[in-house]
Amino acid sequence: MAQKKKAKASNKKAKAKAAPKRAASTASKKEVKYVYDFGKKTDGDAKQRELLGGKGANLAEMAKIGLPVPPGFTISTDVCTYFYENNKKYPSVLEDQMKSSVALMEKQQGKKLGDLKKPLLLSVRSGARDSMPGMMDTILNLGLNDETVEALAVASGNARFAWDCYRRFIQMYGDVVMGVQKLPSEDHDPFEAIIEDFKKEIFPNEKGEVDDSRISVEQMKELVTRFKNLVKKRSGEDFPTCPWEQLEGSVGAVFSSWMNDRAIVYRRKYGIPAEWGTAVNVQAMVFGNTGKKSGSGVGFTRDPATGEKVLYGEFLTDAQGEDVVAGVRTPRPVAKLKRVLPKPFKELVLVQKKLEKHFKDMQDFEFTIENEKLYMLQTRNGKRTGLAAVRIAAEMVKERLIDWKTAIKRVPADQLDQVLAPVFDQAAQKAAKTLCKGLPAGPGAASGKICLNAERAVEAAKKGNVLLVRQETSPEDLRGMIAAEGILTARGGVSSHAALVARQMGKVCVCGAAELDVDYHNRTVKVDGITFKEGDYMSINGTNGEVFAGELKTAPSEIIQVLIEKKLDPKKSRAYQNFAQLMKWCEQATKMTVRTNADSPSQVANAVAFGATGIGLCRTEHMFFEGNRIDAMRQMILADDEQARRKALKKLLPYQRRDFEGIFKALEGKPATIRLLDPPLHEFLPHDLTAQRDLAKKLGVSLASIKKRVEDLHEFNPMLGHRGCRLGISYPEVTEMQAQAIFEAAILAKKKGIEVNPELMVPLVGFPRELELQVQVIHDTAKKVFAAKGEKVKYLVGTMIEIPRAALVADEIAKTAQFFSFGTNDLTQTTMGMSRDDSGSFLPNYTELDILDANPFASVDQSGVGQLMEIAVKKGKSSRRGIKLGICGEHGGDPSSVEFCHKIGLNYVSCSPFRVPTARLAAAQAAVS
Ligand code: PEP
Ligand code: MG
Repeated sequence: MAQKKKAKASNKKAKAKAAPKRAASTASKKEVKYVYDFGKKTDGDAKQRELLGGKGANLAEMAKIGLPVPPGFTISTDVCTYFYENNKKYPSVLEDQMKSSVALMEKQQGKKLGDLKKPLLLSVRSGARDSMPGMMDTILNLGLNDETVEALAVASGNARFAWDCYRRFIQMYGDVVMGVQKLPSEDHDPFEAIIEDFKKEIFPNEKGEVDDSRISVEQMKELVTRFKNLVKKRSGEDFPTCPWEQLEGSVGAVFSSWMNDRAIVYRRKYGIPAEWGTAVNVQAMVFGNTGKKSGSGVGFTRDPATGEKVLYGEFLTDAQGEDVVAGVRTPRPVAKLKRVLPKPFKELVLVQKKLEKHFKDMQDFEFTIENEKLYMLQTRNGKRTGLAAVRIAAEMVKERLIDWKTAIKRVPADQLDQVLAPVFDQAAQKAAKTLCKGLPAGPGAASGKICLNAERAVEAAKKGNVLLVRQETSPEDLRGMIAAEGILTARGGVSSHAALVARQMGKVCVCGAAELDVDYHNRTVKVDGITFKEGDYMSINGTNGEVFAGELKTAPSEIIQVLIEKKLDPKKSRAYQNFAQLMKWCEQATKMTVRTNADSPSQVANAVAFGATGIGLCRTEHMFFEGNRIDAMRQMILADDEQARRKALKKLLPYQRRDFEGIFKALEGKPATIRLLDPPLHEFLPHDLTAQRDLAKKLGVSLASIKKRVEDLHEFNPMLGHRGCRLGISYPEVTEMQAQAIFEAAILAKKKGIEVNPELMVPLVGFPRELELQVQVIHDTAKKVFAAKGEKVKYLVGTMIEIPRAALVADEIAKTAQFFSFGTNDLTQTTMGMSRDDSGSFLPNYTELDILDANPFASVDQSGVGQLMEIAVKKGKSSRRGIKLGICGEHGGDPSSVEFCHKIGLNYVSCSPFRVPTARLAAAQAAVS
């Protein structure tokens, strides 16, 4: 995601460089235009976000379409760039351009800045290209001093209002421009502290909150004096009285706030380049605080949480905009405005309709009502939940506001999993204690009794929900993972075993929660000063990585209830209908298909229900942990010679055959890429003494022989050791057994009338000869099986491209391989020389320091790993034109990686079943954009 943003960012960055030139060309030949008016005369429009910022561009657009926007002007982002490139100085022509724009506002408003009869007051607000809510500064009620405040009192006939504005102005300007802010020793904003003390002084007997409206004019004047004294004391300067000086100070403060800590952190998180800069919007003030016939509010044209088409939002009467968000008074739902102020409400309903019709997207807007007259202060595309995004997109097509291709683009692909995930009851989550945060590895919400061991988890799960909590997981924990409601690990990244298995199973998972101290010996988990014993409740939110104490209420999403649990009538679920519609459009648009990583019939069924077109990766090793087949597997590993190994393999054969037949059935003719054994063998052996003793007993061998084999198999770097096709090279009989099981299962299925399309995949190939040797075993086995069964099936053989050498010699490999599947988990690990299981300890630091844009195990490192993929695609096609190309690393479910795969011409991506809808959406988005 971050990578995608960055890509978008650098794209825009390029455009930003062209901005000054463009600005120059629209102004007179010599003078660059830096100031753009809006109001009766409007220079800009919504397309000029880069130059005017989002707020400025949309203010211009609203003014253009005749909405009631108070007049003003936007100082372009070019000035921000100039400001930082020239030691915080402005272009020489700026002042004159601002002066003529202020004069224009004065004319339109019939007021003058600093006038002693009809003073014009201004607001000064930031406005970057992408909104950065609350990150930069704002100043309201600018233009007041001891004289203009009296003029405003007379002109408005409301002295209290005038002094309230003055008080607010000193507070904001004092804070933002003059730096009068909370000191580390204070627990309160110093201005707010003055107000509180003052209220206590004037209402000594009052308990609880005293409404500001009870402060009289004289008392408000006293507050102003105290505020000015505070400013003088803290800054050493008098509060400026000259409105022009105030305006310059405010503009400078807004530009400076582009580089404040909050803004820098926000930009880093969302990949917004510092070069963009902010614009500054100067606008005539309208007042929501003149009394009961005035007010301020924020609104959405549709409900941002559910997507329902209702006017949504809140307002406060007798208040300025910042009061609504400040939380001092509780705002009321905007629908209530109908009764309170019916005339402006009616107008607001018309305006919101016009906004949507014009901007063709859900709008989030700010408004002010001054003496029953409505003004619009801002509009932008509203942020929404995944659920709302799907509903809004689907309904806007029905309403003919947008076309179906636009609808595909309107749902952020990385938000789609929100509609599938179980959810926590919101109130329950709010009330719960947050313990720590890990990586959100499997979206959704899960609660349960904690269990630190897989076997105990299986037992405990028979009685209720369990959370499997481990330092990290391994294939040995699989059954516990299946039994558990959710998985929580202290170590490991987003492509760690826990994460990929969890996603494949659609399990909720938080991994790499480093603050957890998991003590297997005492069966406790210590975190945040609390010790949890096995059996105590914890809850995890796999959508954002939060870990909670206690049990929280959850529910499955409607879409899961329809598609997977089949408990809900699809016609009764609006959420499902909208989701299904979106998926249909995706199918219409997509060029790349989406397969799944699955190794059981139920996983396949889930994936197919989500629209998977086949299996892209069946990790056969996962099948060896089912039931008691692990014993046969272990017997095979412990065997001293080929004969003993073949004996154990013979026991495994029927299990594998049954598994594959089940998978072929579930696929109903869709292709199945089945990978031969891949992990190092030690992963299948028990490592603790009790389990080794049990195994010795079961197999009738000595404990010493087991210990010795475990020792023999120990590797210092197992990820680069005896694994992948190297196992099949050393023990061809293993490959033979697996190929036999696949072909026999395929023939069994075929005889039952089921179409089969097996694709046998050899892992970790680096040398063409490795593949040739393995493929020879496969072909020989096929011949034998077909002869024995008197039946044939069509099949393909191919390989994973998961080590750099394979990518570099892909033309040679493609002479044998009929398909390539990029194993980007290992390809990332081997290209970067970074362990996929251990990099969690330093990767966060790497992204923070901008060494990496994003976690390369989650999102393809396009310039490094991606380059190898491109090489492999090119070379592979050069020797086999129609070679089938896919990806089966965890990246296959990551939207920006999916987009990249589309770009380099892959035929499919493969991901875990519950990520299939996200990948389908990302693939469709890549195709339509
Ligand atoms: C890979 O390396 O990308 C892959 C899919 O294989 P595994 O994760 O099983 O190593
Ligand atoms: Mg691999």
